[in-house]
Amino acid sequence: MSRPLRVAIVGAGPAGMYAAGHLLEGAGGTFLEGRLQHLVKRPVEVDVFERLPVPWGLVRYGVAPDHPDKKRVQQVYEDIAARPGFRYFGNVELGKHVSVAELGEWYDAVIYAVGASGDAALGIPGEDLPGSLSAREFVAWYNGHPDYRDLAVDLSSERAVIIGNGNVAMDVARILSLSPDVLAKTDIADHALEALRYSRIREVVVLGRRSAFQGAFNNPELEELGELPGIDIGVDCGDSGLENEIFQEVMDDSSRRKIATLKRFSERPTQGHDRRILLKFMASPLEIQGEDGVRGLQIVRNRLERDNHGQWLAKATDQVEMLDCGLVLRANGFKGVAVPGLPFDAVRGVVPSLDGRVLRDGEVMPGHYVTGWIKRGPRGIIGTNKKCARDTVRALLADADAGSFPRTSTLDAATVERRMRECQPEYVNLAGWRRLDDREIQAGRLQGRPRVKRTRVADMLV
Ligand SMILES: Cc1cc2nc3c(=O)[nH]c(=O)nc-3n(C[C@H](O)[C@H](O)[C@H](O)COP(=O)(O)OP(=O)(O)OC[C@H]3O[C@@H](n4cnc5c(N)ncnc54)[C@H](O)[C@@H]3O)c2cc1C
Repeated sequence: MSRPLRVAIVGAGPAGMYAAGHLLEGAGGTFLEGRLQHLVKRPVEVDVFERLPVPWGLVRYGVAPDHPDKKRVQQVYEDIAARPGFRYFGNVELGKHVSVAELGEWYDAVIYAVGASGDAALGIPGEDLPGSLSAREFVAWYNGHPDYRDLAVDLSSERAVIIGNGNVAMDVARILSLSPDVLAKTDIADHALEALRYSRIREVVVLGRRSAFQGAFNNPELEELGELPGIDIGVDCGDSGLENEIFQEVMDDSSRRKIATLKRFSERPTQGHDRRILLKFMASPLEIQGEDGVRGLQIVRNRLERDNHGQWLAKATDQVEMLDCGLVLRANGFKGVAVPGLPFDAVRGVVPSLDGRVLRDGEVMPGHYVTGWIKRGPRGIIGTNKKCARDTVRALLADADAGSFPRTSTLDAATVERRMRECQPEYVNLAGWRRLDDREIQAGRLQGRPRVKRTRVADMLV
């Protein structure tokens, strides 16, 4: 039998774990073109490197704590991690403990699945004022990401404004508005729960620049708002209204469902709750105002205008409004950041690639691959990364078959482990992660919660 194919994967989020799953496919093979097929023709060994001690990326640090069902996918990753040939090196950061050049020398191939850990800029004055945070930072804070556990989140004003109305904005609106007693049953980070208990925010405005039928949220996320206990929902569509005949011309089934939901919300009598989410459409942010902190957001109302391709665009009017608020959360998108040693497309925030193969100056960098958000940009749900990873793994295996990897020998598993002990003596293996997982779950059980997250790296090394 030929020696095992040795692959390093950087990033233990969904994309990295699905890539590991495809490389270590089970006895059944991989579902492809309508049937199970075997992609892998020789033994494979996979080492996953993750900068945090804990795995699963945004499933742990992105998915909202009040959506525990969406975190069940962790079990799929646990099953992959339990397969022969899988090893985990947590608390190991590419660019700090190990480099692209080293991984390229140690392995036949490297797959980068590092996600998107930056923010798209909004480009308005006041963006950097204290009290103006990206939704990415805020989400990482309430989910207990160690880099953000000490983030200053000011919840002392009565109104918060979220710029953008995609699904991340919906998550953030719920977390800011739900009763702490509801959140106390989730795995929200303790520091966030404590801060939210003292929150004075009573109105969360979710700002969308386009009209109601063009809302970036998905239908289930929108409909869920109407079910939240103790929260009134308001709708402000500006001039475009909800019955606009323009809509009839262009709406598909999904946008018709959005409009029907929004109509239901707007016709519902106010329940008199002391918390409210206001969905405000057809308005763009102009300036975040304040001196030593956010005091308000100036917005401009938009009107719909048709472009040369027949698309309805939101164009600014001269109608300006001021929203007093002490917290602005910018939910206008994540953005990938450069990986030291790899080429980077700074405009798109991705590592340039073709069929998952990394491109440097338009040429394939043999043996280097990407998958997930760092390949496609920050779009798509967890499941989208499964196909994305499969496409990358197919390219990698085709290159293995074609003998196009740059080197013929690799470091064996024991030598890599020895090197890791030298580069990062505090690396966390699978057993270390499972110990921590057990302790978090046990601590949660005592409080009737799924888990109590540890939020400092030092406390995660058990
Ligand atoms: C707020 C939010 C909520 C979401 N909710 C849902 C949902 O409910 N349902 C759903 O289907 N999808 C949801 N998604 C989308 C889903 O999370 C993404 O599709 C998915 O996580 C992207 O996978 P990824 O592996 O590319 O990136 P990530 O999940 O970000 O994983 C990247 C991993 O790489 C690691 N890493 C980064 N840099 C390095 C380095 N230098 N060295 C080593 N490791 C590194 C990171 O620590 C991380 O663990 C949500 C996304 C967000 C942002």
